[in-house]
Amino acid sequence: MSYESWFNEFATKHKAIVDKLINNDFSKDEIVEYFDFDNMVKEENDFCPLYKKNKKCHDMEELNCYLCACPNFRFNDEGIKIYNGKKILSECEINNGEKLLAEDKIHQNCSKCTVPHHKSYVKKNFDLDWKKIMNRCNLNVK
Ligand code: SF4
Repeated sequence: MSYESWFNEFATKHKAIVDKLINNDFSKDEIVEYFDFDNMVKEENDFCPLYKKNKKCHDMEELNCYLCACPNFRFNDEGIKIYNGKKILSECEINNGEKLLAEDKIHQNCSKCTVPHHKSYVKKNFDLDWKKIMNRCNLNVK
């Protein structure tokens, strides 16, 4: 699956949950709390494939899922630029994480970075519209 397909599919799932919470008069803080990993595993088990295994993507005591994937992630399925003959498909705007080298491509590896999963970060960057926060990630969008 391309980054863009995942992005659009995920935006639809995210919006459905937020719309449901708004219709039930959840405040901003309550929405952020709802997206806490433990609650999401219980209430929204189809939201992330890892929920089925009750497994966190990062080893954190309190992990918030509202800003998965991350506002600092940048991708372009056609390639952002070429580096040493390899196409960079994704990178981190603030240079965290690591590079993952594939045969002829370079991906951003966020597995050791917890930035977007802290509740304080989510609150600081909050918008009811996930796509509005994340659209700057998708460099395919002009
Ligand atoms: S390395 Fe961290 S801050 Fe950078 S894109 Fe990945 S999760 Fe976001």
